[in-house]
Amino acid sequence: MENCIFCKIVHKEIKTNIAYEDEKMLAFYDINPQAPFHLLLIPKKHITDILSLEDKDIIGEIMLKIKELTKDISQSGFRIVINCGKDSGCEVFHLHIHILGGRRLNWPPG
Ligand code: 5GP
Ligand code: ZN
Repeated sequence: MENCIFCKIVHKEIKTNIAYEDEKMLAFYDINPQAPFHLLLIPKKHITDILSLEDKDIIGEIMLKIKELTKDISQSGFRIVINCGKDSGCEVFHLHIHILGGRRLNWPPG
């Protein structure tokens, strides 16, 4: 998708710190981390948001990858977040899962 920053990261047009990659998904470190551990996990295919999602296989595969990506912090715990729409503050319209950890996370999030 043209002008999508995460598609540009997928196509290596923008450099980023990649934690995991395969043919279907990419995990990379957030440029503005909100916790000591802050990964973004995305499908390589452009899907605008969770409301546009039709492919149950890709979301299943992505969810199953979280266990591997969080192995260093899973003992202390972590949070996954999917923002959608104006009230969530979502800024990038390519489906992404935030994985946050490495500190005590406030709940409710506010
Ligand atoms: P949203 O608010 O849309 O759920 O989150 C988008 C996230 O993408 C933000 O946490 C923001 O810091 C991150 N982000 C935006 N542009 C870039 C970028 O070019 N590289 C990386 N690594 N993260 C980005
Ligand atoms: Zn995209």
